[in-house]
Amino acid sequence: MFYNEEYDVIVIGGGHAGTEAALASARTKQKTLLLTQNIDNLGQMSCNPAIGGIGKGHLVKEIDAMGGLMAEAIDHSGIQFRTLNSSKGPAVRATRAQADRILYKNYIRNYLENQQYLDIFQQEVIDLIINNEKIEGVILNMGVKIKAKSVVLTVGTFLSGRIHIGLNNHSGGRAGDSASNQLAHNLKQYPFRFGRLKTGTPPRIDSRTVNFDLLDKQYGDEILPVFSFIGDRNNHPKQIPCYITNTNQRTHEIIRNNLERSPIYSGEIDGIGPRYCPSIEDKVMRFADKNSHQIFIEPEGLTTNELYPNGISTSLPFDVQIEIVRSMSGFENARITRPGYAIEYDYFDPRDLKHTLETKFIKGLFFAGQINGTTGYEEAAAQGLIAGLNASRYVSEKSQCILKRHEAYIGVLIDDLSTLGTKEPYRMFTSRAEYRLNLREDNADLRLTEMSKKMGLISDLRWKRFNQKKENIEKEKQRLKDIWFNPNSTDINELNHLLKNNLTKEVNGIDILKRPEVKYESLIEINRFYKEDLDLEACKQVEIQIKYQGYIDRQIDEIDKQLRYENTILPSDFDYSSVKGLSNEVVSKFNDFKPETIGKASRISGITPAAISLLLVYLKKQG
Ligand code: FAD
Repeated sequence: MFYNEEYDVIVIGGGHAGTEAALASARTKQKTLLLTQNIDNLGQMSCNPAIGGIGKGHLVKEIDAMGGLMAEAIDHSGIQFRTLNSSKGPAVRATRAQADRILYKNYIRNYLENQQYLDIFQQEVIDLIINNEKIEGVILNMGVKIKAKSVVLTVGTFLSGRIHIGLNNHSGGRAGDSASNQLAHNLKQYPFRFGRLKTGTPPRIDSRTVNFDLLDKQYGDEILPVFSFIGDRNNHPKQIPCYITNTNQRTHEIIRNNLERSPIYSGEIDGIGPRYCPSIEDKVMRFADKNSHQIFIEPEGLTTNELYPNGISTSLPFDVQIEIVRSMSGFENARITRPGYAIEYDYFDPRDLKHTLETKFIKGLFFAGQINGTTGYEEAAAQGLIAGLNASRYVSEKSQCILKRHEAYIGVLIDDLSTLGTKEPYRMFTSRAEYRLNLREDNADLRLTEMSKKMGLISDLRWKRFNQKKENIEKEKQRLKDIWFNPNSTDINELNHLLKNNLTKEVNGIDILKRPEVKYESLIEINRFYKEDLDLEACKQVEIQIKYQGYIDRQIDEIDKQLRYENTILPSDFDYSSVKGLSNEVVSKFNDFKPETIGKASRISGITPAAISLLLVYLKKQG
């Protein structure tokens, strides 16, 4: 039987990828259906109750600049906000917030339920309807079929998910949710390459059983950061502290003594885990010389007693988990509310995706999120937004949105995935971006809002605020340009006080701000620079643009050079073995990856600049 309605876009999965995908499609006015196993779990954080961090915060700001929801949701649910790397350069500064996971989920659900052009339906999808290599709809658990012109698949860790606690294991998509086994089975009839990955989560603790007097306290920033460019710190809920404890030699001894009961060390799990978020047993074995690891104790919310001990993700048996927890200072009598576990799941090789996140083999079918081998809410949400947008644009026959590496971390993420693939859970870092001085958190709106407006993603309010900010930046630059000081100015002493070397010639505000020792906040304390009602966001932008102008210009030159490479096409039937000088290994890598451009070829790991030069010389000779 067919469902009584047909849709332009169906999104399968209501996690972080699925919710952003559904919103992007609905915002761009396609009739959209979000199908998920359990409506109560829309926007559920499967693991750590936190959003952002280095690299991830950059993604959240970009999602926000493109009209996505994640930043707004965390602004309304964050219970501790911090700017990481605040003393370092602007490229690596990043916002992170601890979330009240109930408030976060409620915000997402409420927003989705009120989004025009979006329907939500609770059902498990067990198969896709495909005809002539083109998607036509989905089949539900209860046997009903639903027609759609395009489908976005965002099923996270649920495909053939298997939960491990010690040597016991059972089927599951995450604790409390069932795995998606039929869909996993059915997807394997298509030519996609797939593999197995794993991730894990720590046991949760009842705060009433913890001795907080023995723990160090950690507060958020005094001036609370805001995630959304249209956010307001007054919308943040009550702010509370986190705590810190440590593992010790006793903890490590317990872990070493029980390794044979770990599914990872006993060979029960084959899937590769996240290198940068290792389990406590991995940390103890990999860093055997360390006697202690810091554990951040993060409240799960304002209305629950549960605590998330960040740093002791484990799949050891429950009795060992109790021992591990109780070995740490402050946790001697702690009670576990939920056991930690590892989960193994299927993922699909993202090299079988185009840069639009559409699959290469089935037209109109898009993949986003953990299914593509990534880990993290932010990575999932970023892909979801692009996949939902492109599914919508596919239906309306508009050009696809592909962000380039110099335009956004989202571009870096998708290019890395679809060009290089991944063999371990992929997470974002600032070090993955070659143009990170351009890809800052603070300028994500300046980079992406205009293009997003053209694609119909942006609300009127956001567009108004954006234009206001741009205008304020220009006005502030002009104001600084027009304030002149010469060494004989009557009020020169006030300025010289800020400078390392006194003025020797006439300069304006821009020249003064260029000096490394001069900070904006001290400059505007000087009478002639003082102005009431300054737009502090615009001022921050002016300061960064002026101070880093030289570096930014140099990076723009590099981008221009790289863009020429990006536009140099490599035909799909290119015979790499006819290029003299390329080693067999390089030829086999090129044949394996089949890069579409010289730019992509240059990013394949192990490909040297010399190999790229040989290709360029060959192409030039061919004319
Ligand atoms: P998910 O958030 O998993 O959402 C998938 C959605 O699809 C769910 O709503 C589900 O109900 C729905 N769904 C599944 N199958 C079907 C179907 N057939 N039909 C309809 N709906 C379906 N990330 C980190 O960054 N660091 C970590 O340490 C970390 N640890 C983790 C530990 C565990 C145990 C788990 C489960 C996840 C962990 N993650 C971690 C990953 C993080 O949760 C994911 O990266 C993120 O949630 C992925 O988002 P997603 O939208 O792709 O999928």
